Amino acid sequence: MTAFDEAALDQAFAQVEGQAREEAAAIASDEAVEAYRLRWLGRKQGRLNDVSGRWLKAAPPEAKKALGLRFNALKTAVEGLLDTAKGAGPSDAALAAEAIDISLPGTRRLTGAEHPITKTLNEIVSVFAGLGYSVGVGPEVETDYYNFECMNFPPGHPARDTQDTLVIAGQDRKPQRDRLLLRTHTSPVQMRTMEMQPPPVRIVIPGKVHRNDAADATHSPIFHQVEGLCVDTNITFSDLKGTLDYAMKALFGSSVKTRFFPSFFPFTEPSADVQISCIFCGGKGCRKCKQSGWIELLGCGMVDPAVFAFAAEKQPAYDSKKISGFAFGLGVERIAMMKYGISEIGQFFAGDMRFLGQFA
Ligand SMILES: [Zn+2]
Repeated sequence: MTAFDEAALDQAFAQVEGQAREEAAAIASDEAVEAYRLRWLGRKQGRLNDVSGRWLKAAPPEAKKALGLRFNALKTAVEGLLDTAKGAGPSDAALAAEAIDISLPGTRRLTGAEHPITKTLNEIVSVFAGLGYSVGVGPEVETDYYNFECMNFPPGHPARDTQDTLVIAGQDRKPQRDRLLLRTHTSPVQMRTMEMQPPPVRIVIPGKVHRNDAADATHSPIFHQVEGLCVDTNITFSDLKGTLDYAMKALFGSSVKTRFFPSFFPFTEPSADVQISCIFCGGKGCRKCKQSGWIELLGCGMVDPAVFAFAAEKQPAYDSKKISGFAFGLGVERIAMMKYGISEIGQFFAGDMRFLGQFA
């Protein structure tokens, strides 16, 4: 401040008081009241102290009286503002609107539960975990190489047509083996695992797969598989039979029988379809098993040497002259539908709580 005439003083003090009023109006909590007190009336760094110190010192003797009067008025005003801010609480109407009736019962939250697919998938995995298998996972968006080529589906092979594939757009300029697609089976993880570790391997691979199937009672474009792979020296078909027979008994009960039929999968040789004795009629014949007493449930086979040859590109220990192995794959939805008597596969994905609540 340089001029100390009445008008200059009035203007300077009005400006400071205006600021004090503005800040007081914004006070919304007890903490803010205290902060305001310190900021304006604090002994060391308060604004008023600052004003009195600097202005009084700079003022010529004849202006000191006028300045002191205005200073006292300002202090009174700030103290008044502070008192008002201290007393100001929320209005009665605001309090009434916020009031809660603590005698009312609380909001009951639903307990979460596993989805029937997750539950079934975990059951299958735990059976094999008990046999010493570990769990392998891999990406749902795969390359053509991992999904098909290294699983012994060469480009143009008719077996590719059995897995109607959803491909990622805009991949045409890449070499075929690098093109991306939604995996049609969890088998690519077999190769990803073998590339990472030499034999022995014992893994189960649970996961979501995608095929361009029209949705009907038993088909869905999304479904889940649990695939298994066992590789070591001297693994034989009887190991495969023994393992799956044990697993089916663990899943469906000790009275279940299994039988194996020749089949074809590109990545296994020989390949087999596995049937279990009907869990509904015990093998006598009923509508569920079309009177045959048997239900076809999974595919399996001995790992094709061609698949080992692809793995050997990164892990030479996969030499089909020295090691052998078997692989199998189960459809999780199919097993869940059998176990829980579900007739529409779409129910699993519809998100209807009336359906899902039954499994909680
Ligand atoms: Zn039956």
